Amino acid sequence: MEAIKLEVLVVDFDKLGGEGVARTIEDARYPNRCIYPRVLNTQVADLGEWDDSHPLNQDMEAAAAEVKRLFPTAVDTIEHDPDTLRPCPFCGGEASLDMNTTSRRVYVECDGCSASLRHHPRESDGAMYRPFTSADEARAAWNRRAP
Ligand SMILES: [Zn+2]
Repeated sequence: MEAIKLEVLVVDFDKLGGEGVARTIEDARYPNRCIYPRVLNTQVADLGEWDDSHPLNQDMEAAAAEVKRLFPTAVDTIEHDPDTLRPCPFCGGEASLDMNTTSRRVYVECDGCSASLRHHPRESDGAMYRPFTSADEARAAWNRRAP
């Protein structure tokens, strides 16, 4: 037996909304109950007026580029949710995720005192500092620090 995590894009013609689409996928009757899907997370983007020439209706390459534009990076999603980052351990200020535009590396910085966390703490085996490879990693490391 295996579990499979997919990334699926759904165009919501009937305006069911994120919750509605998730429920439709989960509640559908699949032949012989061959699969049992659970939606793990949902993101919604406005497509404006739909027409058949929309990039999502074109070849895979055009569709993939449009998906990237609609759902940029995890950073953008998380950044707007301040609850996901604990307050700064130095000044108690609000922290936010940011990305270095040159190196494309994600880091966390305090909006109050500018304290920042730009890489994993030194490994116990003495390995060099590793930069974060995702917003999730950066956020988890920031939130693990002592209050
Ligand atoms: Zn601070």
